[in-house]
Amino acid sequence: MKTWGFNKGLYDLGTGCYAWIQPDGTWGYSNSGLIADGGESLLVDTLYDLPKTQEMLDGYRKVVPAAQNIGTLVNTHSNGDHYFGNQLVHAPRIVASRACAEEMAQRPPSHRAQQLRDWRELGDAGVFFHENLGGKFDLENIELVVPNEVFEKTLSLQVGSKTVELHNVGPAHTGGDTLAWLPKEKVVYTGDIIFADAHPIVWDGPVSNWIKACDQMIAWGAEIVVPGHGPICDLDAVRATKHYFEYLSLAARKRFDAGMSVDEAVADISFDEFRDWLDPERVVVNVHCLYHEFQGIHAAPDFMEMSAKMLHYRNKLKAANVYPHSACHHGHEHCDGQH
Ligand SMILES: [Zn+2]
Ligand SMILES: [Zn+2]
Repeated sequence: MKTWGFNKGLYDLGTGCYAWIQPDGTWGYSNSGLIADGGESLLVDTLYDLPKTQEMLDGYRKVVPAAQNIGTLVNTHSNGDHYFGNQLVHAPRIVASRACAEEMAQRPPSHRAQQLRDWRELGDAGVFFHENLGGKFDLENIELVVPNEVFEKTLSLQVGSKTVELHNVGPAHTGGDTLAWLPKEKVVYTGDIIFADAHPIVWDGPVSNWIKACDQMIAWGAEIVVPGHGPICDLDAVRATKHYFEYLSLAARKRFDAGMSVDEAVADISFDEFRDWLDPERVVVNVHCLYHEFQGIHAAPDFMEMSAKMLHYRNKLKAANVYPHSACHHGHEHCDGQH
């Protein structure tokens, strides 16, 4: 199996498929994809801010002539690190699942920019935002550019002679999560259904949908997997994600049945087998969401409360010297190793 390495920038996957990768894949450092054929092109996701998106577009355009005029932009889901750069693409067609488009309109970029600007007034949640994003992303003056075409479950698109199937496998990571699958090329762009070498985070659920999405990619026999975050990978990363959720579901259920609180369960569950994965603080949100599922509640977790709790958990791991962080590949000025 080919290993792709993990450097910032463009990867040519062959057969007209490309990826733009941003190490180390932690909070905000997302990937995008480009598919080109017959003078046409389709972009999968933009990046968290305008400078990073412009650099990505320039990178594609240097190598792929068809990227000069991107005909179709697909946003996999509603998190800003996958669509805040939309205004720079000028794609006539912007496609997303209906649920994704609705969430984008509810949480405009200006809201996130304000949280980052006013982080000192937001308690521990603000500290968490600032640690993750402060000085790394410029979220000011981003326009809300939403999809002009939505679909429910599946949509098939043509790029030249290539077929790109969009499959909404959400709600899982968010309310609408799209996989962009090329059956002939056997390439899948997963959005945040796959975080390679990092803990996934459940902002919506149910987790069973996420496991189904993994099974779907395994059944397709995808050969190249471009994750929403982390290095280009293959079905091993998909199997690892499935395993993670099966393991966590069982472990949380046992503790739920024993009457433990979410915090007690998080402290009690062993995450040793995932000790090298980035962003372990996400287990706080994942167990919280599983507990809601066990109680038959379907409600998105409170973002501020969860952010504060993730900060506390991360600080605990740091104090115990077991917080993982990869070597810095960000190539920005502000890296202090505190990923
Ligand atoms: Zn993301
Ligand atoms: Zn996401």
